[in-house]
Amino acid sequence: MTRRAVRPLLGAHFSISGGLHKALYAGKKYGCTAVQIFTKNASTWKERTLTNQDIEAFGLARQEIGITAISSHTAYLINLGSPEKKKFDLSVNALICEMARSHQLGIPWVVHHPGAHMGSGEAEGMERVAGGINRVLAECHGEGPRLLLETCAGQGTTLGHTFEQLAYITEKVVENERIGFCLDTCHIFAAGYDIRTEETYRETMHAFDKILGLDRLMVIHLNDAKRRLGSRIDRHHHIGKGKIGRKGFSLIMNDERLAHIPKILETPKKEGLIDWDRRNLNTLRALRKQNHP
Ligand SMILES: [Zn+2]
Repeated sequence: MTRRAVRPLLGAHFSISGGLHKALYAGKKYGCTAVQIFTKNASTWKERTLTNQDIEAFGLARQEIGITAISSHTAYLINLGSPEKKKFDLSVNALICEMARSHQLGIPWVVHHPGAHMGSGEAEGMERVAGGINRVLAECHGEGPRLLLETCAGQGTTLGHTFEQLAYITEKVVENERIGFCLDTCHIFAAGYDIRTEETYRETMHAFDKILGLDRLMVIHLNDAKRRLGSRIDRHHHIGKGKIGRKGFSLIMNDERLAHIPKILETPKKEGLIDWDRRNLNTLRALRKQNHP
């Protein structure tokens, strides 16, 4: 009997410039089986209303290319931990719009940074984040994408840099069956979770499973880290070129418990003449092949 190798769900975050569907075609060009997008300009508050044409073109591209493992990432300005009422309300509204757009596009996961408490304290910040999510989920009813809380680096006053914080926020969410998690390798490393050796990788994944549950891990961001373990500074680097190194990524790529989970690069794109998406994707594929001929 021949064993068919499972094709890993591997891809990158691609630009939507020129149309949302362009990101899917970019994914195809790189042989991706998973893609992440922003559904609007990620650095402004301005919302985007999808036209029927946007939705149709996206659906057609998905059908043609066959990529269904698609996540959207929320805009950077959103902060559900903000003590400023105006910012908080804007954030709730922006997240509602993001969930709605992703639902229209048939995207199953919305990846979201929990928020930053801006000096108001972790406990208060986490209460606000959970309160904001409750408002968003109540507004979006039971349908649509799952909201994934992303592990954060802990830069500044950002929340969600410990698995316990993510668990705490999730517990306060009324409809918490609609919450999942996105693990970012650079962020957890910056937050102090080591994955560079078999032993530390096992410990980190064990902690994740115990505190959050691997069954709720829906997307993985694969980024190497420019800064050291525990730096709490969020700087993504090319796979194998940073402080995590190839071994950590080999452990993830060959962990059968994670085989079905989409793995997305968020590393810098072009630098000089090198097409880094191609290079980083090839590095990851090669790391998997070592143990899966
Ligand atoms: Zn990420």
